[in-house]
Amino acid sequence: MPRRNKHDSVDDRKIAVYARKSKITETGKSIEIQKEKCIQLACAQFNVDISDILVYEDEGKSGFYADRPQYRRMLRDIEENKIRAVICYKIDRISRRTVDLLNLVQQMEQKGISFVSVSDRELDTSTRTGKIMISLLSAIAEFERDIIAERITDNMYELAKEGRWLGGTPPLGYCSIQEKATAGGKKTVANYLAPSEEGQRTVKRIFELFLKHSSLLGTAKMINNEGHKTGRGGTFTDRALKAILQNPVYAIADMDMKAYFESYEVSVWAEDKDFDGTRGIAAYNKTEHTKELDSNSRTLDPKYNQRTFRKDITEWVVSIGKHEGIISSADWIATQNLLEEISKEYSARPREVSKSLLSGLIRCVSCGSRMFVKTESNRYNPDGTIRFRYVCDVKYRKKGGCEKSPNVKGYDLDHIVIEKLCNLSKEDDAVLNEFFSAGNNMRMKSQEIEKEIAHLKKRINQIERDIQNQIVSLRSVTVEIIKQSIYADVEMLHKELAEVQDQHKKLCADSKDQDSQLESVERARKSILEFASQIKLVGYEGKLQLLRKILDCVIIKGNHVHIFLKGMDSDNFFEERKRGGDLCHIKQYRYWRL
Ligand SMILES: [Zn+2]
Repeated sequence: MPRRNKHDSVDDRKIAVYARKSKITETGKSIEIQKEKCIQLACAQFNVDISDILVYEDEGKSGFYADRPQYRRMLRDIEENKIRAVICYKIDRISRRTVDLLNLVQQMEQKGISFVSVSDRELDTSTRTGKIMISLLSAIAEFERDIIAERITDNMYELAKEGRWLGGTPPLGYCSIQEKATAGGKKTVANYLAPSEEGQRTVKRIFELFLKHSSLLGTAKMINNEGHKTGRGGTFTDRALKAILQNPVYAIADMDMKAYFESYEVSVWAEDKDFDGTRGIAAYNKTEHTKELDSNSRTLDPKYNQRTFRKDITEWVVSIGKHEGIISSADWIATQNLLEEISKEYSARPREVSKSLLSGLIRCVSCGSRMFVKTESNRYNPDGTIRFRYVCDVKYRKKGGCEKSPNVKGYDLDHIVIEKLCNLSKEDDAVLNEFFSAGNNMRMKSQEIEKEIAHLKKRINQIERDIQNQIVSLRSVTVEIIKQSIYADVEMLHKELAEVQDQHKKLCADSKDQDSQLESVERARKSILEFASQIKLVGYEGKLQLLRKILDCVIIKGNHVHIFLKGMDSDNFFEERKRGGDLCHIKQYRYWRL
């Protein structure tokens, strides 16, 4: 169909009337009245009869695109140029979002389609004022919806007070039952939770296992091995377990639970007497659903992504349910504390827990990243401390990252490294000599740099003087050609000055770097000589400090331990590997069998 616009003498495109009922408010004009008013307006303003009017009406309650098939049909007709005007009762019937609405209006304008709203007659989309009005009105519509959302929340508080189950999948161990009642002559239906025995056994066992073993993965493994099933009959993942362990629905409501919630400033909608030590907790507002426009969404064909977030406990609304709780408040609270501890341990990974000495000092042989300690639950070293391994940081943080990096047995490695370092001053003169010569090399290099810096400084002074002289002579010259060549020369000098200053700056930084390296080598040399005697005297923290004074890093390749003292160029190890070389045979690096 050929494109028309409003300047055509005859426009046989139809008039679209769009009506949508909002079930949320139900206070708005009914859909029939909306339609009638729109049709009246269409006939009056566009001088058409009823056969020229296409009516689109949606009953969808959410106003989201997916719930509005007729709206989508209208957009298609707009795209196919079948329509010359869209009439609606109120602009919030068209779109809930200012941006969407404005985009749509702009697109309609390009096709010469008018947009009229019955209750907002001032707006005529062909004028600037009209556009501003649209923007304003849709902003107001958005605001009105926020108010509605607030009203829904208020309503939720009311339901919370009654301990109702608000619907959705009931938690494992419960099913949802309906209770009919007559209140004030009105019949009402409410949902409550009722116990389901098998699920409750599973839930109790999950809390028991988790509190005993302090491990989500371990608990998941055991609970699956014991044949317990999820509400849908599947196996448990650690994530699913965590959701169960965090669900307050299982906790028996007593004054300790009330105190727990109050410590997080959670709004509690129950009297003290309701915390009777038998019923379970009902918590609302725990999750949030968001709908975001997808990146390949188009105005006439929007796509949305829905996501669910767990809200912070401080945003919960808590009351007492009608169901019975099954986990004591003490166990439930202990579980929350343990979960928190685990997530903290996971992020900070404190070495104190494992008494590892080399965490962060070991570098991954595959990628060069630092390796950090990871404890093994329920395994112990000969001295009674918890067993641990060193794991490549990339491998630890990224799924599938640095997959081939072998984990290193921590306890054995720590002992070997300490033993070798203790022997260093006594027997292994070659290493020590090499180490000292590294320091000597650095010292020499440092002197060279100093010389170069002095040279550059001289050159800078010279150029600055030259520029001054040229500028002075410029004043006495009157011949234009000579003037030009002096300008050119000054320009050259400035360029060179900039370059030399740059070099100077770089070298100064290098020199500083060298100085600090040299300093740390000096410190390390002193520390090596004292290491054997000192390590026996100091405690754990002291050991950590001593090792960090003398070690640059440790790299494990195969069954060889490469120990790099401060000042040894460990980066070369990786450079060499990139070129396919095998540094095990390079003299600089010493290794011992693990
Ligand atoms: Zn790695």
